Amino acid sequence: MKNKEVYRKIRKTNTWGNLISLLVFFSVTMMLIVITAVAFLNYMVEAKLIAQYQTFQTYAAMSEDAIGKDAEQKTLFSGLDRSGYDYLILDENGAVLHSCGEDTRDSEAIQARLGFLSRKLMVYKDRDQTYLNVGDSGYINVEYTRIMDWFRATNERMDDLAAENPGLFISVMTGDEPMEDDNTGHFEDSFETSGQGVLFPYSATTEIDGEILKATEELKAPLWMGLPIGETGCVFVGKSYFSLDMNEITLFLEVAGFLVIIVVIMILVLLGISISGIRRQRRVVNYFFTDPVTVGHNQMYFQIKGEQMLRKSRYKTVGFAVVNLVFVNYRNYVVCHSVAQGELLLKQIYQVIGKNIRSREMVAHMSSSDFGLLLRYDNQENLRMRLEGLIRQIESVDPGHNFAFQAGVSLIEVKRNDSGKALHRHRLDLSEEYNNACTARSVMADSEDSGIAFFDEKIVADRRWQDAVIERQKSAVANEEFKVYYQPKYSPVTNRLSGAEALIRWQSPDLGFVTPYKFIPIFEKNGFITEIDHYMISHVARDQKRWLDQGYECVPVSVNVSRAHFIESDLAEQIRDMVDAEGCPHHLVEIELTESAFFDDKKAMIDTITRLKEYGFAVSMDDFGAGYSSLNSLKDMPLDVLKLDAEFFRGGAGDRGQIVVSEAIRLAKSLNMRTVAEGVEIAEQADFLAAEGCDMIQGYFYAKPMESGDYEEKMKAGYLDPREKTEN
Ligand code: C2E
Ligand code: CA
Ligand code: CA
Repeated sequence: MKNKEVYRKIRKTNTWGNLISLLVFFSVTMMLIVITAVAFLNYMVEAKLIAQYQTFQTYAAMSEDAIGKDAEQKTLFSGLDRSGYDYLILDENGAVLHSCGEDTRDSEAIQARLGFLSRKLMVYKDRDQTYLNVGDSGYINVEYTRIMDWFRATNERMDDLAAENPGLFISVMTGDEPMEDDNTGHFEDSFETSGQGVLFPYSATTEIDGEILKATEELKAPLWMGLPIGETGCVFVGKSYFSLDMNEITLFLEVAGFLVIIVVIMILVLLGISISGIRRQRRVVNYFFTDPVTVGHNQMYFQIKGEQMLRKSRYKTVGFAVVNLVFVNYRNYVVCHSVAQGELLLKQIYQVIGKNIRSREMVAHMSSSDFGLLLRYDNQENLRMRLEGLIRQIESVDPGHNFAFQAGVSLIEVKRNDSGKALHRHRLDLSEEYNNACTARSVMADSEDSGIAFFDEKIVADRRWQDAVIERQKSAVANEEFKVYYQPKYSPVTNRLSGAEALIRWQSPDLGFVTPYKFIPIFEKNGFITEIDHYMISHVARDQKRWLDQGYECVPVSVNVSRAHFIESDLAEQIRDMVDAEGCPHHLVEIELTESAFFDDKKAMIDTITRLKEYGFAVSMDDFGAGYSSLNSLKDMPLDVLKLDAEFFRGGAGDRGQIVVSEAIRLAKSLNMRTVAEGVEIAEQADFLAAEGCDMIQGYFYAKPMESGDYEEKMKAGYLDPREKTEN
């Protein structure tokens, strides 16, 4: 959970940091650009219109005194008519008092204000199309005569052009000699300029005397301005043009270009900032997800990305397997080589696994010898085969060694509702699934071989049981919940009681009656077995002492001592002291060691056995013949008793089995050891063992393990011949 929070924080901080700086930067830039553009446009428009406005204002002022006075009005109008402007004078009712030129006003007037001068005026749009006026007198300077020649030559073409484009305004600018309208009516005298020039159609290219003349455009939009004529209530409405010439367009383009460049730079800077931010974040996230040993994915990646993938709705119909793959020999390898070499090996293993990973699957190095895999699967058997193949590949990653790998698998099946629709995995917790895979793997933890184990409910039940046992172990000892059962050993020849084995039982108030198979292995694993052994030795010694005092014919009782106990160098002394504390003679207590214990530290073992014998305890080898052969240990260990494992007598030993048993007995005899046969259930086995000279039989044939009270009865009787019962 913590990892996920850290990851979320990293993502959040970076994203917000980037986003906020980006937004602030972008808005400030845009604001500056918009302010600049508006100011510039305002300036342009005002600069264009102010001159005409001022002219009209003068005309309006001139009209103020003349209007309404016949003679003066006439003089005024004829004067104004010559000004070259199209204009109107409206009376207080809006009716036209006088007009010059065609009235092409739009009927609707707009109340406007002329920029920073804050002058109010009426503005009318023009009904006609925007004129396309072409050319620029200042642009092309050619001699007047040549212009005239050229016009004469192209007159006809101009006519055509004018006919094709009604409303096309073609003007010719002349110097001292204004050109007269000719019969086409499309030429017009223009205002006087000192220069010479020609205005000709937009984008037209014309050749005069071999000289290429190119037109430039001028944007010219007609606009009617209405100004009040003093206090008369009349209005002077003049037609003006809002026009842009080449220089202005160039200036405008330059400013626009400059702004565009600024915007582009801003965008680039912003882009740079955000890309570097994203990169930085990527680096942090990558670092967060990278395993330093394999340079691949780590546990964090597995957990976060894996869970994200599994929760995606599009994968709800896909079955996934979460695998805990453990390199069993890793610790040994590191001890024999070096950490660096071990890590190199892990990297190689990771790479081999990586090659086997398909799309939408993942692998991560979880911890020292553990890898996490998330695989897609359709069928458990196919998955098993795939994993076996993978393990074979990584086993031979270093041909010089025999490596083993164990895989624990937890399956995430496709869940469907009653109508068969696949359900989302919104709440899936991958770490829990991985933990289940680890639990499945841990079932093989005692083995050193490669293997695959699938997580199932039995494992869960086992774990729960384990927890329940461990939770209660201490209180069980304190409350004396463990009971000592005695299983008598009889001589098959004389049928006399000649010994017993103490076997533990657990009478738990909440778990019920528990057999040792269900808790001894757990205690052997967690080390609590040493307490149990002490408990049993003390209790047996106490019982024996009591029985001795009560006058029973006591026989030696053997107690199981776990191999885990043999690590303690003063084990013999501990046992002696415990038995002494109960005041029990040493010869009434026998110590049983399991065969597998003989594989540990041999020297220490021989030492302990020797001392136990010195103190007067008999020592027996339990479960002889089960599992590994220990003939060799027999040679070195000064043992008193050999207990033949029940396995020899299970399901009828057969001829060969009988040979082995009789040879074992003979071997024991020649080594001066007594023999006990365990697990004998039928008379034939007992008869055979009697014939072979086996000293004692411990098995259901004579008696099952029993409570001390029942055992007391057996001691009292001393003699028992089950053959009599069977014969009856
Ligand atoms: P073990 O020491 O080999 O004990 C013999 C087991 O075989 C006993 O099982 C006993 O009940 C059973 N047995 C005896 N005769 C027959 C027979 O004729 N047929 C069959 N089917 N079984 C027979 P139990 O008492 O359940 O003990 C199981 C194992 O638990 C023991 O095997 C021993 O390894 C361990 N154990 C029991 N008590 C103790 C103890 O106090 N301390 C330690 N460390 N281990 C103990
Ligand atoms: Ca035993
Ligand atoms: Ca045994």
